[in-house]
Amino acid sequence: PPAEPPVIVINAHDLPYLNARKPVRDRVSDLLGRMTLEEKVGQMTQAERGALAKQSDIATYRLGSLLSGGGSAPATNTPEGWADMIDAFQLQARRTRLQVPLIYGVDAVHGHNNVVGATIFPHNAGLGAARDPDLLEQAGEITAREVKATGIPWNFAPCLCVSRDDRWGRAYESFGEDPALVTRMATVIDGLQDNGVLATAKHYVGDGGTAYGSSSTGDYTIDQGVTRTSRAELAALHLAPFAEAVERGVATVMPSFSSVDFGDGPLKMHAHDELINGTLKGRLGFKGFVISDWQAIDQLPGDYPSDVRTSVNAGLDMIMVPYAYQEFTGALKAEVEAGRVPMARVDDAVARILTQKFRLGLFERPYADRSRLGDVGSAAHRAVARTAAAKSQVLLKNEGDLLPLRRGAKVYVAGSNADDIGNQSGGWTISWQGSSGPITTGTTILQAVRSRAGSVTYSRDASAGLAGHDVGVVVVGETPYAEGQGDVGRAGRTLELSPADRATVDRVCGAMKCAVLVVSGRPMVLGDLSGVEAVVASWLPGTEGDGVADPLFGAVPYTGRLPFTWFRSTEQVPINVGDAAYDPLFPYGWGLRTDRARDRLKAVQHELARGDSRSKAAALLLRPALPGRHWHADGTVRDTRLVLGALEAAAALLERSGSVSYAEADALVSVARDVAQHAGKRPDLQAAADHELAAGAYGKAVDLLARSIR
Ligand code: BGC
Repeated sequence: PPAEPPVIVINAHDLPYLNARKPVRDRVSDLLGRMTLEEKVGQMTQAERGALAKQSDIATYRLGSLLSGGGSAPATNTPEGWADMIDAFQLQARRTRLQVPLIYGVDAVHGHNNVVGATIFPHNAGLGAARDPDLLEQAGEITAREVKATGIPWNFAPCLCVSRDDRWGRAYESFGEDPALVTRMATVIDGLQDNGVLATAKHYVGDGGTAYGSSSTGDYTIDQGVTRTSRAELAALHLAPFAEAVERGVATVMPSFSSVDFGDGPLKMHAHDELINGTLKGRLGFKGFVISDWQAIDQLPGDYPSDVRTSVNAGLDMIMVPYAYQEFTGALKAEVEAGRVPMARVDDAVARILTQKFRLGLFERPYADRSRLGDVGSAAHRAVARTAAAKSQVLLKNEGDLLPLRRGAKVYVAGSNADDIGNQSGGWTISWQGSSGPITTGTTILQAVRSRAGSVTYSRDASAGLAGHDVGVVVVGETPYAEGQGDVGRAGRTLELSPADRATVDRVCGAMKCAVLVVSGRPMVLGDLSGVEAVVASWLPGTEGDGVADPLFGAVPYTGRLPFTWFRSTEQVPINVGDAAYDPLFPYGWGLRTDRARDRLKAVQHELARGDSRSKAAALLLRPALPGRHWHADGTVRDTRLVLGALEAAAALLERSGSVSYAEADALVSVARDVAQHAGKRPDLQAAADHELAAGAYGKAVDLLARSIR
């Protein structure tokens, strides 16, 4: 670590707030009691690292926090380079009268994605498809280890947005269109926070519900737009994941750039007293601190002092200024002195911020732990990202069981995303928008296929060598983007495959049996699939192309399920599970499997497709738990008491994510209900089951129904 500056605080070690043995609450009140207004205002100020006029401004303005906005990296973009940069900033903070350490924040939204060589996980859309809360927690843990190794204790993640419109440029930052799914994925918060990195639940609230064309100018804007809704609908669709985050003790929450309109006109979330002070801090009991989004208060109506006043009074505790920190600190101080921002509000904000700094141990260990730098991009970490990528793959179509491919097959590989680390990683990778090409270390899908196939011919546009292969693998999809730049309509963005990709698909699939892998942040219009045997939604898998190839070649089964409804055409967008006229190409939750359960599940799907045999389908699911002699020929169970054991087994199955699809779970619940209605003795448990069902907890519902029979 850099040499400590001369000690400036006299008898610092005798001060109660510097005593790590004292309770955090006592340390906070002791420190707060010593602070001047300038020092308090400084704690509420977050500047961008690149905006610092000089490093000593950290001390001059007593800044409480710095950040790297997307891709804002040190000149030497290595783990060491990051640690050196942040330690140097921290040294400045330690030069201040009270030596309050900085809290540095980054967007590590799919691994430590600003750092060259770090492990890059699939973006959230893929993790939603994997539907594995434990895996999410592990991803959080690994991200935390890498972030922490570079001296950073704070991550602006996870995005708990429930994306309801695939035209939104941030759809891939969403775990899915269903609030119950997004809520289940909140385990990532534990993975981060149990490993020394604060999480941020963002963007509070309704960011995924903005209406297309909702900007004041009436253009195509959707990012940062207006969510027109009722209080009840907002709660049902968008609030639940945040309630879960608060329950899990999330340390910080970031309001959304967007506005909410309850029918009386749009109000920016950064000014939303009702939803921040009232709902978040009041009703949900959030005890951490609220960090604004990037320069977001500047979007409020009125002059800058009024932006500062309105946002802080609405409950924001720290402002991501991020450039004009001189102006911000001056304005906030003046507002407090004029009595327009109550001193009690400032004390509350600063106490919330200091509480987290003490909890993190920043006063005792402000610098990077250099012994852990080797964690960044380690083989062990990449192995987990590879598993995550494999579990995120959703097999949409598989005619004649083309997949999995035989190891040793002669494979023809083509498509714009077959050999591109940048494209398979998406936005928020090395730079804010991300970019195509070899931007960081990893394995492309082509490289991963090469190490498994007998022989590979690769031609990006399928212009050469089409004859003489067993199978074609065409990897198509999107190029990277982030935030509003990815909104459909902006910069030529569409939900359709590019004409070049489509032509490549036609060339390859016209010449041989083929699998199309769609590397994209959202569902896309693929066009005619009649000549395509297999289709896989690969999402944005990150740096580990091996994870895409693992199920492709059968090393692990396909188990992912759609986190977003796959529309037929762009006219159907937005389309979401539960919509009245719901007729998608592939429904929400769809995903074929290639493991040993495949045949059984195929039979189940067949029964379900016939519509009138839901209980029969569920019976098929129960069969392994309840041998054949217990069944009537018509697929019903002889002795309802025996159903109990089967239901309990099924409940356990449902609790393990990825075991059955939602449609199958529905069918199972319907059988459990039938039986419970005939033989059940506990209507209260049946009512409780309905409640669990409404929350999407199939396993719990079936378990309760089983107990009602006992
Ligand atoms: C994004 C946030 C992000 C912040 C800091 C904003 O533009 O909306 O999600 O945390 O930048 O990089």
